[in-house]
Amino acid sequence: MQAFPISDSSPIEHSAELPSSADVVVIGAGVVGVCTALFLARAGAKVLLLEKGRVAGEQSSRNWGWIRVTGRDLAEVPIALEAQELWKSLAEQVQGDIGLAQKGVAYLADTEADLKEFGHWLKGAKPLGVTSQILDAAATQALIPTAERDWKGAMWTPTDMRAEPFVAVPAIARLAAQEGALIREACAVRAIETEAGRVSAVVSEHGRIATNAVVLAGGAWSSLLLRKHGISLPQLSVRSTAGRTTPGLEVFSGNAVDGRVAFRRRADGGYTIAQEVRCDLYIGPDAFRALRYFVRSLLRRPAPVSYRLAAPNGYPDSWTVQRNWRADQPSPFEKIRVLNPPPNQGAISKALAFFRQTFPDMAETELVQAWAGMIDFMPDMVPVVDQVAAMPGLTVATGMTGHGFGIGPAFGRIAADLVLGKAPGHDMHRFRFARFSDGSRLRPGPGL
Ligand SMILES: Cc1cc2nc3c(=O)[nH]c(=O)nc-3n(C[C@H](O)[C@H](O)[C@H](O)COP(=O)(O)OP(=O)(O)OC[C@H]3O[C@@H](n4cnc5c(N)ncnc54)[C@H](O)[C@@H]3O)c2cc1C
Repeated sequence: MQAFPISDSSPIEHSAELPSSADVVVIGAGVVGVCTALFLARAGAKVLLLEKGRVAGEQSSRNWGWIRVTGRDLAEVPIALEAQELWKSLAEQVQGDIGLAQKGVAYLADTEADLKEFGHWLKGAKPLGVTSQILDAAATQALIPTAERDWKGAMWTPTDMRAEPFVAVPAIARLAAQEGALIREACAVRAIETEAGRVSAVVSEHGRIATNAVVLAGGAWSSLLLRKHGISLPQLSVRSTAGRTTPGLEVFSGNAVDGRVAFRRRADGGYTIAQEVRCDLYIGPDAFRALRYFVRSLLRRPAPVSYRLAAPNGYPDSWTVQRNWRADQPSPFEKIRVLNPPPNQGAISKALAFFRQTFPDMAETELVQAWAGMIDFMPDMVPVVDQVAAMPGLTVATGMTGHGFGIGPAFGRIAADLVLGKAPGHDMHRFRFARFSDGSRLRPGPGL
């Protein structure tokens, strides 16, 4: 089986010299951090983007590549619609082809109850401008005619898109660098310094950068860095496995998922497949700390998670990961440059079997590669994009909960505007940091 395209042995592409000061330091070069840096640079800010491993080495290259509004939390829908417009313009602005294709997303109903749930979502989302529609069983069969499944219907959004993530995010990073963002890979941020409670500097493994503004877009690592500074965020990380197949017939040009398998056509003619949205949670100290938040929301909507006893050494919530460290000594972020969890072989084998069963024409399809990523998972399944009252000057854009690739450019644009003191252009109440401490009841979103 082949190695994943971005790993800690990939060549370093961005090695900007560290300035002694910056207007803004962005931590983490996934889709969110890269887009934040791009929009800050466009606004004329002197922005430094620091990445402990490689641009898009973690979730942002490992995802399915879906850019969807379908099924999102209603507060995310206007932001996801903005993100789709941003994706279209970014695809024109970057060098090379990022595989952006507007081929639609289908949520396929195995049961009448699924269909009813889709209808309920659509009732709320339609006034927000989505193109989604409910298809009956016959229309679903016509949409995916070679499938041997008895779907009861589907929710179909023809304007949803996809891109090739491991190409797209590095291409946007190159664009950000061209537009003035300084980017440095293999450079972990160990600590954020404050003066009189306000952000005053960032300490990286290669030196200190004075700044009054930091954006933390650290994906699965965000809560570890926050906790070192006494800021608690109930964010866990779960492993999600995907794989790609050998090239084959075009059984469906769009992106689709039912209760067993998710599949989408790739630019290389194969399919990215996964076993629905099932994930593995490694139990660690944060899982116990955050339990009260997750229990409340899991009771209302059980998440498709399998539980594992302990994460491998050095993972964000492993029992052995260092939780406090001195800024002049190596941090946990330097121990794992690119978090590359082993794929769940059982899950990907089942995904392949379900894919072959669904499409008998694809019975000879083989798996070329399997991989996994650690998803940053919030109890209410919606991100946190907000300024942190406990540390003025710190903005957090994290907890994308398995659906941050598609919406990432818009949350990056919003994070940049929050730093610049501009109106975010959307109602951001749902994504506030304080929702875990202001006494409000968490309202679970629709899921990954
Ligand atoms: C298998 C899988 C399938 C998915 N499918 C989809 C999909 O189809 N559509 C969709 O919208 N989303 C999907 N997602 C989710 C999506 O990939 C993520 O939500 C999104 O990529 C998160 O982007 P991010 O920038 O917040 O985090 P990440 O991409 O995780 O980036 C965070 C970066 O921060 C760096 N970092 C952390 N701490 C530090 C530090 N102290 N110093 C320096 N750098 C640091 C990390 O090294 C990392 O590169 C999927 C995820 C997985 C794993």
